[in-house]
Amino acid sequence: MPIVANVRENFLFFPLLSRAREMHCKGEGKKWYHSKFSPGLARRSCTGHGGDSIHARYPKADDFNMVTDCLWGFDLGGTKIEGIVLAPGPGGEVLARKRIPTEGDRGYGHVLKQITGLLESMIADTGISPKSIGMGTPGTLDPHTGLLRGSNSQHLNHRPLNRDLEDRLGIPVWIENDANCLALAESESGAAAGLEPGPRVVFGMILGTGVGGGIVVDGKLLSGNHGIAGEWGHNFLDESGGPCYCGRSGCVETILSGPALERHYRSLTGNRQTLEQVSRLSESGDANAQKTITRLVRYFGKGVANVINLLDPDVIVIGGGVGKVKILYSRGIEEAAKYVFAPRLNCRIVPPELGDSAGVFGAAYLNRNGQPA
Ligand SMILES: [Zn+2]
Repeated sequence: MPIVANVRENFLFFPLLSRAREMHCKGEGKKWYHSKFSPGLARRSCTGHGGDSIHARYPKADDFNMVTDCLWGFDLGGTKIEGIVLAPGPGGEVLARKRIPTEGDRGYGHVLKQITGLLESMIADTGISPKSIGMGTPGTLDPHTGLLRGSNSQHLNHRPLNRDLEDRLGIPVWIENDANCLALAESESGAAAGLEPGPRVVFGMILGTGVGGGIVVDGKLLSGNHGIAGEWGHNFLDESGGPCYCGRSGCVETILSGPALERHYRSLTGNRQTLEQVSRLSESGDANAQKTITRLVRYFGKGVANVINLLDPDVIVIGGGVGKVKILYSRGIEEAAKYVFAPRLNCRIVPPELGDSAGVFGAAYLNRNGQPA
C-alpha cells in the first residue's frame, strides 16, 4: 500500500490548518517570502491537494504566527516513524499526526528518505512548514563525534543522522534518545505536569525491553558531557544478572528489563511466559512467578535508590512494559525507601500518562527545549 494512503486514515485535520492551507494555496495572504528552507520542500508544499506545485513561497510569519510556531516532532522507531504537529504554547493541541513504516532493513539511506517523505507529505497536507524539527531516536547522538551510537536499530549506528537530516531538510533538527523524549514529554504534559508543588527535577525512566532514562531540570533536558545523562540501565546492580550486550555484566538491564525477568521465570520453570502473564500468575499464587516478581521488586528498590541518591529527583515516571507492573508503585517504593540516604522517601514514583505517545510529544517539545542544558 502506498505510504500516504496507508497513513492518511490516521491523519487529523483541524479547521485552523484547513484555513491556513486554503489561504496559502489561493494566495489570499498576498504577502509571501522566499523560504530559507530547502526549495525542494517549498516546491512540494502544495502538492497532493490540488494546489500549484510551483509555490516556492511561504506565508509570512505575521499572517500565521500560530502556524509557523507549531512544534513538529518525529519519533523514529525500529518499526515505524511517527510525525506530529502541535499548536504552539503550553499544552498545545495535536494539529496533525501521521505514521509510516521505518523499513530499516532497506538501509540507512532509505530511512532518511522515509523521514523526508513523511515530513514532505505532512507539509503538503497541512500547507505549513516547520522552522525546525525534533526527533526521538533509539540510541544516543554522541556530542563529541556527531555520530549516533548504542541504537538497537543497527543501521543508525555510526551515522551522522543529525547532519544528514539537516543537509536534506535545510532546517535545524534536534535529536535526543527516546528516554530523553519520554522524560521531556511526561514532564511537560504528562504525569509530572500539573503536580503541586511543581517538580524541579524529573527522572523519566524506561523500564521495558531495554532500561534507560532521561533527566529534566527546570523544564530543560540535561544531556550531559557524553550525551548519556540518565542512562542508569548500565549501572552495575548485581552479578546474578550475568553478561550484558554492552560488554560488562550485572547491569541494571540484565536484571530489570522485561526480557531479563522473563528469562528468570523460564530458568525456574522451563516455561516461556510474558512478564504480564508472570505478573498475573504471581497474583494468583504461582510460587515461581512470585519469586520472579519479588526479584523485580527487590532489585528495583536497589537500582532506583542509586538514582535517587545521585540525582534526588522530585518525580520519577516509569515508562515501558515493566512499568505496568502495579506492585512497583507500592512494594517497589517501600523497597527503594530502604536504600535511600534520607529518613523518608518524598520522591513521587508514578506511572506515565502519555503511553506510547510520549516519544513523539517529547520530540516536538525539543524545538522549545533548544540546545539542551
Ligand atoms: Zn550493560
